[in-house]
Amino acid sequence: MTDSFKDCIFCKIIKKEIPAKIVFENDTVLAFPDINPKAKTHILIIPKEHRKGLSALEENDISLSGRLMVAVADVAKKIKLDSYRVIINVGPDAGQTIFHLHLHLMSPDGGMV
Ligand code: AMP
Ligand code: ZN
Repeated sequence: MTDSFKDCIFCKIIKKEIPAKIVFENDTVLAFPDINPKAKTHILIIPKEHRKGLSALEENDISLSGRLMVAVADVAKKIKLDSYRVIINVGPDAGQTIFHLHLHLMSPDGGMV
């Protein structure tokens, strides 16, 4: 299993080959604003290891999945956001356009990004 994909935009952001304003980072997870925000606050939270989406997760991704969820809470705390939605699009018909697992953290509140 390869951890990063040559033509994956989000892997390029992780490798700093494409710029992004990093909102939160730890050893497993990276968070940055969506380039085309659909809410006042719209942040993407991604694993640093490439997974093509939620449907690709396996038993040994339980720790990674949990860390993504905790990172959502960490990001919200960091930007002082109390109310928000978390969305994962799975598959093209559901609107997935980038095939590197990501959670959309969205809120009508501004937060402090
Ligand atoms: P999805 O449609 O669920 O696959 O979400 C992909 C999201 O990535 C979209 O909301 C895009 O606006 C966003 N996006 C694409 N390229 C970039 C980028 N370079 N930096 C930040 N967000 C991006
Ligand atoms: Zn990737």
